[in-house]
Amino acid sequence: MTGTNHGITGAAIALLVREPVVAIPLSYASHFVCDVIPHFDMTFGDKLFGKKFNITLICDFFAAATLMILFGFLFPSQKWIIWACMIVAASPDLAWAYYYLYSDRLKHRKLKPDPITRWHSQIQWSQTLKGGYVEAVWFLLMGLIILTRR
Ligand SMILES: [Zn+2]
Repeated sequence: MTGTNHGITGAAIALLVREPVVAIPLSYASHFVCDVIPHFDMTFGDKLFGKKFNITLICDFFAAATLMILFGFLFPSQKWIIWACMIVAASPDLAWAYYYLYSDRLKHRKLKPDPITRWHSQIQWSQTLKGGYVEAVWFLLMGLIILTRR
């Protein structure tokens, strides 16, 4: 799923649960639940960190950062738990940056992904352009949950 949807899911969890000890691990777990749901193929059928992927990734990053700022204004007293849950919910995807950018490009060798990253890759059974519709519905659903918490 896009980082924006992982982030908005983390924000919804933060506002529903409110208890950091529960909300933060739940946000981490939500990443994998979201990745099982058929979702948008950010590579557009090309490779990870290809041109189309990178452009989408930059847009995705700015959309997620904009949401963080917006939620900071909408929920000033809960902004720290919201921000923490958003970052934690999106964090498992940082493994891709590590493996594809750090090990491949800088070290010029392919590292074997760790078991969690391998499993993380295998659970994403459906990544298509049509998965963008699923992501739009998910975004609206999470947005609705968040707005009802005001
Ligand atoms: Zn992921």
